[in-house]
Amino acid sequence: MKLRDLPSVDELLHDERLASEPHELALAATRTVLDEAREQIRAGIDPEALVDRVVAELALARRPSLRRVLNATGVLVHTNLGRAPLAGAALARVAEVGAGYSNLEYDLALGERGSRQDHLAGCLGRLTGAEAALVVNNNAAAVLLALAALAEGREVVVSRGELVEIGDGFRIPDVLERSGARLVEVGTTNRTRAGDYERAIGPETALLLRVHQSNFRVIGFSEQPRLEELAAIAHSHDLPLVDDLGSGALARFADEPTPAESLRAGADLVCFSGDKLLGGPQGGIVVGRSDLVERLRRHPLQRALRADKLTLAALEGTLQLALDPATREELPVLRMLHEPIETVRARAERLAQLVGGEVEDTVARVGGGALPLTELQSAACAVEESLAEWLRRGDPPVVALVRDGRTLLDCRTLTDAEVDEVAAAVHASRT
Ligand SMILES: *Cc1c(COP(=O)(O)O)cnc(C)c1O
Repeated sequence: MKLRDLPSVDELLHDERLASEPHELALAATRTVLDEAREQIRAGIDPEALVDRVVAELALARRPSLRRVLNATGVLVHTNLGRAPLAGAALARVAEVGAGYSNLEYDLALGERGSRQDHLAGCLGRLTGAEAALVVNNNAAAVLLALAALAEGREVVVSRGELVEIGDGFRIPDVLERSGARLVEVGTTNRTRAGDYERAIGPETALLLRVHQSNFRVIGFSEQPRLEELAAIAHSHDLPLVDDLGSGALARFADEPTPAESLRAGADLVCFSGDKLLGGPQGGIVVGRSDLVERLRRHPLQRALRADKLTLAALEGTLQLALDPATREELPVLRMLHEPIETVRARAERLAQLVGGEVEDTVARVGGGALPLTELQSAACAVEESLAEWLRRGDPPVVALVRDGRTLLDCRTLTDAEVDEVAAAVHASRT
């Protein structure tokens, strides 16, 4: 075929299968397909089925970019895969609140303006024992707001062993300095003592900050003061202690501290994420002393960092499930965390039977920068290495790990229903 034998854009657009498509969309798709066809002719290949290709290109253009994915990696809170999946009841709250109007900032009893920050204070108080609470867009924003409101232009004392990078090149100290506070680093990477904080406190000090070592551990010759010791030092100088917990699991798991424990140990404000071990939507939660929370609430940054109504609806739905031990396991993150290995292995066996794979023992991880040393016993179905890429490009995409020349489909992060979808995806990838 020669270039001049290609149909024109108009000729293609008049094909009956394209005639009823929106003009702009069809035009762009047709141009893309004709560009590719010209490349093929130059490479000595005869392009075929041009209209089919335009139809396929149109379908691609209409497909959302942000899509549901099946997580077969065995990493529960996978930051690249959207962290915590939401519980059905939390999603129902989003649908209900989002579909119509709501009392987001309206006090129904008084018939006047209310605060969006009031809706979750009760739930969070019951779960953590805190006097007051505030919700912003994410935990990085929560810590930024706390420092801006309590320490702008003044000093914040923090251990060198806690100045972490939280992923994608973002470092906690860089975020903190944007608050306008000056960080005063004490101690060393592996050892910081109570006396180091004591000596660093001066007239310019606004607060002491503890950042939980969420995504790494220093082992061996290491030392950090206990939170109680830090609280005693802070309070003897009339300073608040702010604790950035990172994950903030509401129920105890392994050595991950809970916000309630942190408050009991003497922290005045505790900041944590909504979408890590809590199992809810992206959000930054601050709980603690009401006078301090009030200062955060009045700060101009609060207006810029506040959570939207959909987040608040999902978070309230999540917290309500967490409040009742009978419904707690409806939170997908907690279910995956606690599921007995026999159940996970049975799922892997069923998948292996459906696709002709082999069951293999694996290690699942919490992920999301929490509990880096915690290994969760798990089981995967192993299939051909070459399938990994096809599975990723499928619909719905399946993301899995490749190890020792095989693709491992870890079943701790899949539900029973998803196993059938993964099996269908494996069959489709083989053809
Ligand atoms: C994850 C984490 C953050 C950031 O939380 P986001 O909700 O992702 O903004 C901050 N501090 C610590 C210690 C963390 O683990």
